[in-house]
Amino acid sequence: MNLSNHINSAQKTFLEWKKVPFTERQTLLLKLADVLEKDKEKFAKLITTEMHKPISQSIAEIEKSAGMIRYYAKAENVLKPEKIKTEFDVSEVHYDALGIILGVMPWNFPFWQVLRFAVPAILAGNVVLLKHASICFESGDAVEKVFKDAGFPEYIFQNLRIGHEEIKEILENPYVRGVSLTGSEKAGANVAALAGKNIKKSVLELGGSDAYIVLDDADVEKAATEAPSGKLQNTGQVCNAAKRFIVHQKVEKDFVPKFVAEFNSYQPADPFNKETKLSKMARPDLADELESQYKKALRNGAEVVLALERISESEFRPGIILVKEGNPILQEELFGPLAMLMVGKDDEEILKLANDIPFGLGNSVWTKDKKRAQFFIENLESGTVSINKSTSSDARLPFGGAKSSGYGVELSLHAIKEFTQIKTVVGN
Ligand code: NDP
Repeated sequence: MNLSNHINSAQKTFLEWKKVPFTERQTLLLKLADVLEKDKEKFAKLITTEMHKPISQSIAEIEKSAGMIRYYAKAENVLKPEKIKTEFDVSEVHYDALGIILGVMPWNFPFWQVLRFAVPAILAGNVVLLKHASICFESGDAVEKVFKDAGFPEYIFQNLRIGHEEIKEILENPYVRGVSLTGSEKAGANVAALAGKNIKKSVLELGGSDAYIVLDDADVEKAATEAPSGKLQNTGQVCNAAKRFIVHQKVEKDFVPKFVAEFNSYQPADPFNKETKLSKMARPDLADELESQYKKALRNGAEVVLALERISESEFRPGIILVKEGNPILQEELFGPLAMLMVGKDDEEILKLANDIPFGLGNSVWTKDKKRAQFFIENLESGTVSINKSTSSDARLPFGGAKSSGYGVELSLHAIKEFTQIKTVVGN
């Protein structure tokens, strides 16, 4: 593939697109949401075919993406020049679009992750190149076509069917001004290093191993019933899903049987059946990885609460392990239908367990006591803290990670500014 041709076309489009008023860009976004939603069944089938997500969840992914686009289509123009009081006649902060932004995207939400990055970047006046996960090239093509069908200028969004080795050449091109990656730490570190070498902005949304904390005064019934749906959504392949369930010792006996029973109600089935809640994993090598992590956890003292059972190349019956502090598995993300259960004796110990990992995406705390909740809000090291609910992303609220979960912000009004140049204008 001749990458320079794609980049040159994108740059031509950028020079025109950056002049288009914010409200006109928003009108096109409304059309984008309509075009996407009109064919939601078709796009959902594509997602399920490429990465095996249960079809009802693929439909929900398209609906959520359309909702997020409509949020930006009606969002306040936060890029208007800001006036600052100084002794000069003019003192303003401007937000200029940067240019071409590369998205390096994963397979777990093939439409949502791409659009979540691309929509605010394009609304800010940038244009986008996509390097999608290699099992999701068809989804990438479909998103490109949705932009065309909605009436966006040609080359505003281009799906490049390339391997990750070609990212280097793209980031070395002077017209490309930034990159946003969602995926593993390894891919993120590599792409951020290339961006740094070329002095380009990067945003990283990486893995997580979030805690789901159930204190002794919580509504244990509700917490136990809700816990598995977050973890097992998308067959456990969600970055900000709870992965470690940390329960106060006083409610362990109450919580665990309900949690296990609910977890066990998720059994792998045909992903194209609308009733299916759990299906096979995206690739067999990801299933191999999960199985080897399970064995590693057990070798290091973890106890089986519910056995993880591999029933085909990429399918598991879901499992739960009881893990104690010091088990090296706690330093890893379990991306699949395997949960970790931990028990803590008081709030201090639970907080320590929750924070003692390299990641920090979206922890969740269940308690009726506002003071205890406040203690966790102030001390949990993560981009989001959810109270008495599972963590989930919401277009209106910022989404991002702490520590090895990455940096930069997606969603909300903040994301519109992520790929802009702050320009100070001052004088008489
Ligand atoms: P990757 O991080 O490898 O893939 C995500 C994207 O990065 C893909 O477009 C991929 O391209 C690209 N990529 C892969 N390796 C590199 C590299 N060295 N340099 C630059 N780009 C790269 O995810 P995997 O599919 O391998 O999954 C591995 C693990 O990553 C999972 O088990 C999970 O822990 C985590 N992950 C986290 C996600 C999240 O939402 N935060 C999403 C997906 C995975 P290509 O497909 O061509 O390799």
